[in-house]
Amino acid sequence: MTYDQIFDNAIASLHREDRYRVFADLERVAGEYPNAVYRQGNEAREVTVWCSNDYLGMGAHPQVVEALVAAATSIGATAGGTRNISGTSHPMVELEQQLAALHRKDAALVFTSGYISNDATLSTLGKLLPDVVIISDELNHASMIEGIRRSGAAKRIFRHNDLAHLEQILQSEPLDRPKLIAFESVYSMDGDIAPVEAICDLAERYQAMTYVDEVHAVGMYGSQGGGISDQLGLTQRIDIIEGTLAKAFGTLGGYIAASANIVDAVRSYAPGFIFTTALPPAVCAAARASIGHLMDSSLERTELHNRVRQTKDALEQLGLPVMPTQTHILPLFVGDAARCKQASDLLLTEHNIYVQPINYPTVPRGLERLRITPTPQHDDQHISQLAAALASVWKKLDLPFGDFFEVRAENEQKNWLALHRAGG
Ligand SMILES: *Cc1c(COP(=O)(O)O)cnc(C)c1O
Repeated sequence: MTYDQIFDNAIASLHREDRYRVFADLERVAGEYPNAVYRQGNEAREVTVWCSNDYLGMGAHPQVVEALVAAATSIGATAGGTRNISGTSHPMVELEQQLAALHRKDAALVFTSGYISNDATLSTLGKLLPDVVIISDELNHASMIEGIRRSGAAKRIFRHNDLAHLEQILQSEPLDRPKLIAFESVYSMDGDIAPVEAICDLAERYQAMTYVDEVHAVGMYGSQGGGISDQLGLTQRIDIIEGTLAKAFGTLGGYIAASANIVDAVRSYAPGFIFTTALPPAVCAAARASIGHLMDSSLERTELHNRVRQTKDALEQLGLPVMPTQTHILPLFVGDAARCKQASDLLLTEHNIYVQPINYPTVPRGLERLRITPTPQHDDQHISQLAAALASVWKKLDLPFGDFFEVRAENEQKNWLALHRAGG
């Protein structure tokens, strides 16, 4: 086998499993979200986007764009190096102070992405805490799993949001063994919320540290947009809050907020922080403008949650199997990889609507779905268009209508029968 054949085979196996990813050539139009330009060959047409993580449309907010341009004009396009080499740009100093205030912590540390912040922090904590066992929710994001794996620390996995299972694991470890519970507040693919307060209670009882990924909650929940921990008044009971600047804040970068010592230790020991060029000052300035706006204004959050309710109602009225969600994330059940891709393709080609398919390994096989994220910019017309288009695609592909739990049960039975027959 040649080297090239090896790569060719690797790609072919993704095609066979219907999970080869195709990226759409999509250009957002500032000020006109959710409209975007979709290009295919020589053709360009306008489509409506329904799956962006720029949840509040802050990526094109005039104050954010102005801050970006002003800082780029006065400082330039780059930080010039790692913070060790180039020092810390003043917009970065201000951004970290603001993030600490947002989460009511001593300090914050900014990384080049949310992925890196999880990977770098968890891998470093796992090395610094002697004989630590990291106790991780089974649905944690790939970046947390990778950080925990690379730390070399012992790892135990608890069933998703299952407090009894978490307690069982905590109980089985010696009380004086260092422990770190790692979980998310809002889970991105199901839109459910962790029992944060009860996890803090368990952490206290069993002397564990807590690490929460608030990536899908920062900017979105809490009186100043500090996430679920802000909404529930729990920031002081969580040791490390991790977030991104790239979702509701509409820019780029990731961070942790924690005690002065934790932040200083990660700053001093994490290779993923130390040996890479810092975020450009212009991005820091833009992120700061966005966070500042959302700390003062709840308008975007209120409008978003209204639009989410309206969209959910519209889909349910047509009998589409919306999965149970407690948040702004609306997963729509398909339950089959090939048809999930087909549904997404049909929405784009026949209805000018862009929603990307969510397949394995992002979600388990059999739970393939479309993940819909309304924003304050989606109006009544966008919502009724989406609902009608989905119903038409569902009919065309003969996808199941009805209550999610019933539809999933039927689907499981069908898959089981098919497997059984195939197996003889
Ligand atoms: C998107 C995401 C990240 C990574 O954040 P980026 O800033 O996009 O790198 C981390 N955790 C979760 C749960 C995410 O969904």
